[in-house]
Amino acid sequence: MALNIGIPRTRAAGLVDRFGRVATDMRLSVIDKCNLRCTYCMPAEGMAWLPQRMLMTADEIARLVAIGHHDLGVGELRLTGGEPLVRQDLEFVVSRIREECPVLPISMTTNAVGLDRRAQDLRDAGMTRINVSLDSLHPDTFATLTRRPFLDRVLDGVRAAAQAGFGPIKINAVLLRGVNDLEAPDLLEWAIDQGHELRFIEHMPLDGDRAWREDRMISASEIRMLLSTRFTLSPAPELRGGAPAELFEVRRRRQSPESPALGRIGLISSVTEPFCAACTRTRVTAEGRVRSCLFSHEETDLLSEMRAGATDAEIAKRWREAMYTKPRAHGSETVGLSSADFVQPERSMSAIGG
Ligand code: SAM
Ligand code: SF4
Repeated sequence: MALNIGIPRTRAAGLVDRFGRVATDMRLSVIDKCNLRCTYCMPAEGMAWLPQRMLMTADEIARLVAIGHHDLGVGELRLTGGEPLVRQDLEFVVSRIREECPVLPISMTTNAVGLDRRAQDLRDAGMTRINVSLDSLHPDTFATLTRRPFLDRVLDGVRAAAQAGFGPIKINAVLLRGVNDLEAPDLLEWAIDQGHELRFIEHMPLDGDRAWREDRMISASEIRMLLSTRFTLSPAPELRGGAPAELFEVRRRRQSPESPALGRIGLISSVTEPFCAACTRTRVTAEGRVRSCLFSHEETDLLSEMRAGATDAEIAKRWREAMYTKPRAHGSETVGLSSADFVQPERSMSAIGG
């Protein structure tokens, strides 16, 4: 007889892998298209979009999330893309998920273009949190980085999200050498002033142009150095758990360490200090394929099974099997992986769902 004394039911039946990690945090891409072309993510042109019929419908998304939440122990959902706001029925998608999963936290990572007109409706539909990606506050730098002149629209979107009650809003920023790296302290100053929580993400080799180079990447330790011209960072008291960001309290350089912090910042050092051993993520692409890791070279197609009439129990079983073989680290079995060992997957970040 199998011994499972002391193991909660969701864990026993959940998304456990060979190394004992349990995936409870679901990242679901709702669309592969985007209205920006960030140089670190997409090529300027030539992306082949998924045809509409291959995208999951709102009902299919809600069913998959419900299986994850009720049968497999998923406790958090993040909608991503591509750009989730490009999906015209996003509010309906969120409301359908909310109907199926009344208490599940639903967040979204977005570039915020068009969010000014939709933040309140998304809130009313049941969305709980929003992360906005914003890499520069200078219109020219923003346009160079995203290949679109939409900085004002993004800032309008951030303001509307705060007004709709989504605060504290997390701001994600990727620094590129010679483009926006020297703006790091200004971005932090702005985020603190606005009451947002800034997160710097190390540039990963997931860009559509395949131009990533280790020596061009701004590492988390370099980011700390860039910020030290104006700020002091000290480790935040919270336990990190499976969270990708290492959190720090922020004070001005000459401020006493005993005085209240101005705010917090997160550093996501996915390349220089990968957190794979504590990873809690399960990813689903916009066409309903499970990826156990961002850097996976394999996918399991749940949508085709769903459309072929599979039951919830059959889908849950396939999902569990897909996650069981999750690679040890960064899509690889290597222990003590260095960044030189990254094997870039075929799909870029926007097509996987970051
Ligand atoms: N379009 C939305 C956005 O930009 O927030 C959601 C999708 S985007 C792929 C999700 C996150 O991935 C963004 O915060 C973006 O900065 C980040 N990202 C994209 N490409 C990346 C890369 N090569 N390395 C690190 N982060 C990347
Ligand atoms: Fe679009 Fe987000 Fe990728 Fe930028 S990072 S191109 S906004 S999907």
